[in-house]
Amino acid sequence: MSDEAYDPCPLCGRPLVPGRSVNLHHLVPRTFGGKKSFPIHKICHSKIHSLFSERELLKVYHTWEALRGHPEIQKFIRWVARKDPEYNSSNRRAHRRKR
Ligand SMILES: [Zn+2]
Ligand SMILES: [Zn+2]
Repeated sequence: MSDEAYDPCPLCGRPLVPGRSVNLHHLVPRTFGGKKSFPIHKICHSKIHSLFSERELLKVYHTWEALRGHPEIQKFIRWVARKDPEYNSSNRRAHRRKR
């Protein structure tokens, strides 16, 4: 198994850079027996889970097409498209303040 052969992110379509910016998402939540997981940007992953409950994920948003069809996700994809592939909102805190 090679860590370096990621497909592009199934949500936003940007490249996945192996490392801390990559998470795994279960299209069918693990609590409902989902076994298959997909590499996805950490930031895309937290977007999914901030918008949808596990039940919504199970009933409606268990395909990438359904997820990408949601207006909030479409907005997010347009926004994140301009970001660095390793961009993560929590990186902001790492910036040093100039004085
Ligand atoms: Zn992504
Ligand atoms: Zn997930």
